[in-house]
Amino acid sequence: MPSAITPLLVQQPETVIPDQFFSLLREIWGFDNLRPSQHAAIGSILEGRDTLVVMPTGGGKSLCYQAPAIFRGGMTIVVSPLIALMKDQVDSLKQVGVNAIRIDSTLSASEKRDSANQIRSGQVRMLFVSPERLANQDFVRFLDGNDVHTIAIDEAHCVSQWGHDFRPEYRQLSSLRKLFPTAAMHGFTATATEKVRLDIIDQLGLKTPRVLVSSFDRPNLTYRVLPQLDVQDQIREVCERHRGSGGIIYCLRRKDVESVTEYLQRKGYSAVGYHAGMSHEERKLAQEAFLTEAVDVAVATVAFGMGIDRSNVRFVLHASIPKSIEHYQQETGRAGRDGLPAECVLFHSAGDAITLKKITEASLIEAGAREEILIASRNQIEEMSRYCRTPVCRHRALVEYFGQSYGNDSCSACDICLGDTDDVPDAKVVAQKILSCVFRVQERFGVNYVVEILLGAKTQMVLQRGHDKLSTYGLLKDIPKAQLRDWVYQLIGQGSLELEGTEYPILKLNANSKAILFGDGQPRLIRTVAASASKDRRQAAPSDAIAHADKALFEKLKAVRRKLASEQNVPPFVIFSDNVLFEMSAQRPSTPEGMLNVSGIGNVKLNAYGRTFLEAIQEHCSSASVEMDVNWKKDLIGQAVGKPRTVRLGPAGTKAISYPLLREGRPFEEIAEKAEITVGTVVSHLLDLMQDEAISSIDCWMAPEVQQRIIAAADIVGREKLKPIFEHLELSVPYEQIRLTLHFEKQQNP
Ligand code: ADP
Repeated sequence: MPSAITPLLVQQPETVIPDQFFSLLREIWGFDNLRPSQHAAIGSILEGRDTLVVMPTGGGKSLCYQAPAIFRGGMTIVVSPLIALMKDQVDSLKQVGVNAIRIDSTLSASEKRDSANQIRSGQVRMLFVSPERLANQDFVRFLDGNDVHTIAIDEAHCVSQWGHDFRPEYRQLSSLRKLFPTAAMHGFTATATEKVRLDIIDQLGLKTPRVLVSSFDRPNLTYRVLPQLDVQDQIREVCERHRGSGGIIYCLRRKDVESVTEYLQRKGYSAVGYHAGMSHEERKLAQEAFLTEAVDVAVATVAFGMGIDRSNVRFVLHASIPKSIEHYQQETGRAGRDGLPAECVLFHSAGDAITLKKITEASLIEAGAREEILIASRNQIEEMSRYCRTPVCRHRALVEYFGQSYGNDSCSACDICLGDTDDVPDAKVVAQKILSCVFRVQERFGVNYVVEILLGAKTQMVLQRGHDKLSTYGLLKDIPKAQLRDWVYQLIGQGSLELEGTEYPILKLNANSKAILFGDGQPRLIRTVAASASKDRRQAAPSDAIAHADKALFEKLKAVRRKLASEQNVPPFVIFSDNVLFEMSAQRPSTPEGMLNVSGIGNVKLNAYGRTFLEAIQEHCSSASVEMDVNWKKDLIGQAVGKPRTVRLGPAGTKAISYPLLREGRPFEEIAEKAEITVGTVVSHLLDLMQDEAISSIDCWMAPEVQQRIIAAADIVGREKLKPIFEHLELSVPYEQIRLTLHFEKQQNP
């Protein structure tokens, strides 16, 4: 079956999204535009074609099935694995006046009856169900006879054994397919390697699906991957950088959760623990406290987070290594879902990797997993360890892991590119010392023992074996132990040394080690810069809204939001995201019309909350004598324009303006005006952007019919030169559009 599947490329949809759809978008969500990848997905969904959407967390997947569901009428079924996530979505949809309901095990008998009646009446636009419900034949029969045209499967990777969160209940989903044979089925996931994607298509039985894969990169996240030194102190340092903001700390074991929570509480942070050993009620309270922003930090085992949809998580910290790169991407993905800057820090140690292997294998064996699954899990941990130890830009490494290319030389948002780490100047000599020690002990010992010899430790074992007489004994005695161990693992990560065996792994030399020993190889070793320098960690640049926001007003608006949320018993982000509050605090509107200029406020929310927030803004601005109705977006450009002509922004500066607008799919003319560049330059910027980021569609800039005409003309007159195409089209299509279409075509069919 997989071989018959459409190639896994971002494909161009043929559907033109009607203007009425955009009116709905503005009215309900307050968004002016779709992001390019949303445009492609929604085009395909409106067309009724099976689709697999792979989009990173925060990419805006929910809008892709919510907006078409409302636009088309009838009923859309959304399958979601977590009740908390369904509840948040239903709450959010109800906030904007959409008739959405959920059916899951937490509903009372009378609530279920009520939901059933609503479904019968044909008024329900979106029905959220858990996969377990679909195992219930009565329930499935009950759904029969409804006008279901779309089935959306959220977290679709759960259907695959190769994914990181296999759920056997997902295999029941084929029953929906049988029940609604004419309905289109769409899978949505944030993390899927090609193998998982093929498996999803196979397991869900998607018919000639359109597969839309966005760029996996999350530019708003700053990644830091550092060796564990004093882990509690390291955790506190990260929490201190984000005091007052939401964060999740992942620990390996329950006892770590308990000790870290207690430690943070003692240091005055509002932190709550979460692990499988707590009662259901305790866990529910912990989640709620975090979700309602009653506490800032959740310290948890990996069980936490699938049900957490808090969009303003400002940091995710892994106190030890995650199970796989997919897990890491999924867990760090919970940071910065609102698109604002957030930090992801991982502290790794070799000991934790070994413990993790043991814990994971034990639970897999208990669940009756086959040998190949055990091997796969071991390899995934190995891969994760390698990611930690390899001194390559973290954004690049992640993106490349998921099979995409990364165009930037420096991301300016990871420990490597920000210079949190230094290159060890004499790395080759250090590596030679380590490798010759492995050679001297005849490749018969593990990392710890080799490190002990290099440090000149006087342990019983070392003395008994006479290893204190080796020429490499004490050769690196001035290096801290944790640092030295880390370098050994860095050499393993780079393939310059091997670790053989699982129970007691032994260091072995390979061809690369020998090359280094003979002076040929060029190993790279890095070390973390001194703790004092690391206090002032940098982050990805703050968004423009944050930079322009009145911070005191932002805090006041947050309090207003919290109060409204608690009155309605919904999480605060359901009222407004942080982004909306930042924009409000930057613009400080005095009228409802001004309020509508804030991205994320549509008429429905304006009617519900406009007055309350306008009053709070009014009050703050008059008491603090702060100007209102500030056109800060224009201000941003104004600053650039206001500079003397000779110091106009260079390409990097104008790209800082054009790139975000291009990602939002804004018209070229608008971007040209804002960035003070020509339309031709905007198109060049887009072409540059397309080198770095997968753009799934250019339909927001060019009508698909025009693209088709250009391609048809190019098929006749060739693609080498633009002029013949321009002339073949009787000069009716500008050069920029021809350039863009051909470039996009090439990107799609490299
Ligand atoms: P995902 O489900 O892919 O993790 P969400 O659906 O939670 O992402 O969306 C992430 C954020 O992006 C939310 O704050 C949402 O309001 C915002 N968002 C989604 N689509 C748009 C859009 N077209 N314009 C502006 N903001 C958007």
